[in-house]
Amino acid sequence: MPFEQAQWVWLQGRIIPWREATVHVSAHALHDGTGVFEGIRCYETRDGPAVFRLHEHLERFSASAAVHDLSIGYTREELAEAVCEVVRRNGFPSCYVRPICYVGSGVLSVHPRTTPIEVAILAWPAETQFGAHALHSGVRVTVSSWVRFHSTMMPATAKACGQYLNSVLAVREAVRRGFDEAVLLDTNGYISEGSGENLFLVRHGKLLTNDERNSILLGITRDSVIQIARHAGYPVEVRTLQLDDLLAADEAFFTGTSAEVTPIREVDGQAIGSGARGPVTAQIQEAFFAAATGQDTRYRGWLHYVAPASLPARPGAA
Ligand code: PMP
Repeated sequence: MPFEQAQWVWLQGRIIPWREATVHVSAHALHDGTGVFEGIRCYETRDGPAVFRLHEHLERFSASAAVHDLSIGYTREELAEAVCEVVRRNGFPSCYVRPICYVGSGVLSVHPRTTPIEVAILAWPAETQFGAHALHSGVRVTVSSWVRFHSTMMPATAKACGQYLNSVLAVREAVRRGFDEAVLLDTNGYISEGSGENLFLVRHGKLLTNDERNSILLGITRDSVIQIARHAGYPVEVRTLQLDDLLAADEAFFTGTSAEVTPIREVDGQAIGSGARGPVTAQIQEAFFAAATGQDTRYRGWLHYVAPASLPARPGAA
C-alpha cells in the first residue's frame, strides 16, 4: 500500500503524523463534495526531488477554489513551501503530492455558510497510473455510457471533489467491462477526456487534442506535451475530436499527472494504428520524462527543487 510509507502530512500550517491527519465524519466535504484539490508529481532528479510545474498546479488550485468560493487562506508561496516541506519530511526521492482545500465540520445544510475551510497536503510514493508496463504496451479503453458533465452544469476546468463521481462512475464501468480506462464523450457526442486524463491523437505526423469547449479539465501535462511537441517540430492542432477521429488515428495517448504519457492501444476492441505504442508517442513520452526529471535543461524552469532543509532554495528555481 503506497500510504504505508507516508509518515507526515501538512495540515493547516503544521506538519503532523499521517495517522493523526483525520477529518470529522460531519465534514461538509464528505457529504456534499465541497472541496478542491490538485494532483502533482515530484520527480527524482540529479539535484534531488523536484516538483513538476508547481506554480501552474498552485495557480489551478487557487482558480478552482475561487470558482467554488473557498478561501484557501495561504499564499502560493506558503503552499509551495508546504509542498516542499511534506516531500522533505517524508524523505521521498519522488512522489505524488495532493493538496486539498475542503469545507470542514460546522453545518450540513447544502449551503456551507461560514463553516471553516481546511487545507491539507499529502504525499506518497506513486507509480505511474496504469503501471510501468502500460507506458510501453498502452492501455485498452472503452467509450463510457456516462457523459462528461457539461461546463454549464459544473465548472469543468476546476478540479473539485464532488465532480469526480462522474469519473468514478465511468472508470468503474470501464473496469467492469474489462478495460483499463474510460473515454467520456461530452454532451454533444464529441470526445471529452478520460476519467482522469486528457487525450491526444496523432494523425499524419500531427498531434490533435481538444480543449475546454469539450468540457475537459485543462491538464498541466496536456500543456507540457503541447509545448514539448511543438519544440520537437510537430504541429499541434487544438480542435473538437470525434469518435471517428480516435478510431482512425495513427496513434493515441492519454496525458495526466498520474498517467504521465500513456499510449492507448485499443478502443472497445478496435486497435488504434498498429495496436502498440507508436513512434510519435514514444518520442513525446521520452521528451516528457527528460523534461520532468531535469535531463532536458530547456525545461528546467518547470521544476521546483525541494532544497534540503539546511540549504536555501536553489537560486532560479521556479
Ligand atoms: N482530466 C481530469 C478529469 C483529471 O482528473 C486530470 C488529472 N488532474 C486530467 C485531466 C489531467 O490533468 P493534469 O495533467 O493537470 O494532471
